[in-house]
Amino acid sequence: MHELSIAESILDAVRKELVAYPGAIPIRVGVKIGALAAVDMDALRFCFEIAVRGTGWERLKLDARVTPGEVTCLACGHKMLVESTVLDCELCQSAQTVMHGSDELDLDALEIERDDDNGTDLTETEGFERKPEDCGQPA
Ligand SMILES: [Zn+2]
Repeated sequence: MHELSIAESILDAVRKELVAYPGAIPIRVGVKIGALAAVDMDALRFCFEIAVRGTGWERLKLDARVTPGEVTCLACGHKMLVESTVLDCELCQSAQTVMHGSDELDLDALEIERDDDNGTDLTETEGFERKPEDCGQPA
């Protein structure tokens, strides 16, 4: 249920953004999720599709990306960036590691469509990249 509540949170954030754009239909939402949130991205996409069905926004797609966290190894002092909560040190294989980073979820892009124009892009974040593996449907 963790991923379903996250999907609902994303939709809530979209609803808040749309207050400023009456009549707009959201077609793509980009979110960044901190690695510490330990979100299962496949499960999130699946839950998002289910949650979207209740909104009437059938075309809304989710672009979810993980923001890497930093892990410090307590045994050898090595620091590494990770996108999951698998925390064994890559140098000495110690499991004595500490993770720092975000467990937050940020809405970082929203694309909408209105009746009188097509595909207004409200993306404000610089360097937003769409990676196929982040937005593809499960096989
Ligand atoms: Zn180490």
